[in-house]
Amino acid sequence: MLPTDNKTSPLAAPITSVWGVGSERAKNLARLDIFTVEDLLLHKPRRYEDRRKFLSIRELKTGEPATVRGRIIAAGQKTWKKGARGMFECVLDDGTAHLYLRWWQSQAWMADYYVTGREFLAFGKIESLRPRTFEHPETELLETDADEFIHVNRIVPIHPLTEGITARVMRTLIWRALEKFETQITESEWAKLQFGAMPSASQAKPSTFNLQPSTSLLPSRANAVRMIHFPEELTDVEFARQRLALDEFVELQIQIQTRRKKFEASAKALSCAGDNRLIKPFLAQLGFKLTNAQTRVLREIRADMGGLHPMRRLLQGDVGSGKTAVAACAALMALESGFNVALMSPTEILAEQHFRNFSRWLEPLGVKVEMQTGSKKTGEDGGWRMEDGKNARSSILHPPSSIFIGTHALLTGGFDLPKLGLVIIDEQHKFGVTQREQLVRKGNYPHLLVMTATPIPRTLGLTLYGDLDLSTIDELPPGRGSVKTFIRVADKLPKVWEFIRQKLAEGRQAYVVYPRVEENVDGLKAVTKEFDSLKTKLAPFRVGLLHGRVKAAEKEIVMADFRANQINVLLATSLIEVGVDVPNATVMLIENAESFGLAQLHQLRGRIGRGAHESFCILISDVKKPGSQDRLRVMEETTDGFKIAEEDLKLRGPGELLGQQQSGVPQFRFGDLRGDIALVRQAREIAARCLK
Ligand code: ADP
Ligand code: MG
Repeated sequence: MLPTDNKTSPLAAPITSVWGVGSERAKNLARLDIFTVEDLLLHKPRRYEDRRKFLSIRELKTGEPATVRGRIIAAGQKTWKKGARGMFECVLDDGTAHLYLRWWQSQAWMADYYVTGREFLAFGKIESLRPRTFEHPETELLETDADEFIHVNRIVPIHPLTEGITARVMRTLIWRALEKFETQITESEWAKLQFGAMPSASQAKPSTFNLQPSTSLLPSRANAVRMIHFPEELTDVEFARQRLALDEFVELQIQIQTRRKKFEASAKALSCAGDNRLIKPFLAQLGFKLTNAQTRVLREIRADMGGLHPMRRLLQGDVGSGKTAVAACAALMALESGFNVALMSPTEILAEQHFRNFSRWLEPLGVKVEMQTGSKKTGEDGGWRMEDGKNARSSILHPPSSIFIGTHALLTGGFDLPKLGLVIIDEQHKFGVTQREQLVRKGNYPHLLVMTATPIPRTLGLTLYGDLDLSTIDELPPGRGSVKTFIRVADKLPKVWEFIRQKLAEGRQAYVVYPRVEENVDGLKAVTKEFDSLKTKLAPFRVGLLHGRVKAAEKEIVMADFRANQINVLLATSLIEVGVDVPNATVMLIENAESFGLAQLHQLRGRIGRGAHESFCILISDVKKPGSQDRLRVMEETTDGFKIAEEDLKLRGPGELLGQQQSGVPQFRFGDLRGDIALVRQAREIAARCLK
């Protein structure tokens, strides 16, 4: 991953080649994933302390963290009960006043370490002046001449630590590694290509850090590595971090773009642009006119499918923007061209829904629509395969082509997808990149259209899907009722239920979402438990239940009943998050709303507001934590999925945003996808220029 990470670099030497690291320390460092000199040099400090100026103990102010320096004049353990482990306390004196250092759990080594007469630094804050006390301070023993260079009179790094490696030891080891290996930190290839010789480590650093490559004075990689540990000014740190992050991003972009280039060189596209003979009648009977955004995206898709290289396109659009109709048109292009199509969904419910829509839309056109999920396969149980005669009757395809719809069962062995021209993957973020590749490999380089319902912030998009072209539907179909969002405390639930009953009486339907299937220790509400009480509470309205442990056949019945308004209220887990489309449902009640991510709440809310009636999303949360309240406020303030995704990314990071199953998020040491959009963009350009 990392630019200098190759076996021949001196930096690949084992960590024991740093003086002071024996087998014991090597074992400890391994817990921090530090195995080589390079790992050590790239061990990022978690914070910095400005030790150029200390406060005297007398100057300490309550509540303000600071570092002081003094000698121990008394130390000891205090116990209240015989045999019990009490607290450990010592008194630091710097000539201006006394400061107590206190640890509530004394450790065996403390009495041997905090010895009277020794000089210590201590970092902490006092809560009062009588007596001045640091509780659980970070401390460092001062003992050698080197201390003046490394540990004091400068801005010092505090690194992530592990048992047996103190801050002081870590800092010393990194200092030594820098002294010995700094000249071996070679400049990254891309930087050499871009800038020729870089300013050397000793050269003065630029006063402003301008990352535009044409004008910038980037620190060299070696310079950045030193600066990240031993900055001269705190502002250097960000400067250095950006330089190292850029290396990581460029490295990744080069990988992504190389893969794409190789793919384009080896893969010739099947000609799938179609001739409109199916799309025309399809659009005529669809019942609505495509939005401008849908039409534009379809043009992009058609250009790809008639192009030289197989399409690799990500279709992005907020919930309800009409991705399915676009997918259907893309499918028709391939079908018109005599190829088959596979459409893969993350859940059986969605596969069913697509199966129903596509059967309704495409079978009149003579297209065979087939289904393959974990629990169901058309043609096996008689009830599912369409009568051959029906296809033959209206078929204007010779021979008729098929669209295969399913879950990841489409991937599992034995299932043959002949003459595959197009693969459509719906709600991509639930599938890993490997699965995507697996499906595509089933055919002879079919075109690939990936659809995602979670709008993906740019940084993530370029990082995760850098090898895909991007189409965005940035317009919702007209005639949608608005969605109002409210945050309420649980005390208000009786009123909320009253409101919901009223909406049900008007003929509308509601979703009620709980975070858990069954009750457990976390105290979050569970759908199975609430089901029983709500059944009676909401009578005569009918309540249905849907969660991951409901059998597939039953799920289907529940969904069918809900669609037919035989079930008025659907109780569910976030299982219904993606794709389910019932326009008459206008209320979404989410309990323990704080336990969901914003992007997830947005998805859930996307289930309503699909018809002409006004819709209501009610978020129930009792959590008073300021952060969690602010987070939910975002839902009240905007319905823009991109804004919400950006917020979610900032607040919770990429892994959370994309969900547990997303394994493809790369790990960076210095890069931060929450804020590094400019760097990611730049890395992409740099990589493209390097590969030219
Ligand atoms: P998503 O992008 O979330 O997958 P869907 O494809 O499920 O959205 O579309 C949401 C709803 O909007 C569906 O009921 C669909 O039939 C309808 N729809 C799609 N495109 C249009 C359009 N251009 N005009 C009116 N309704 C549309
Ligand atoms: Mg959808």
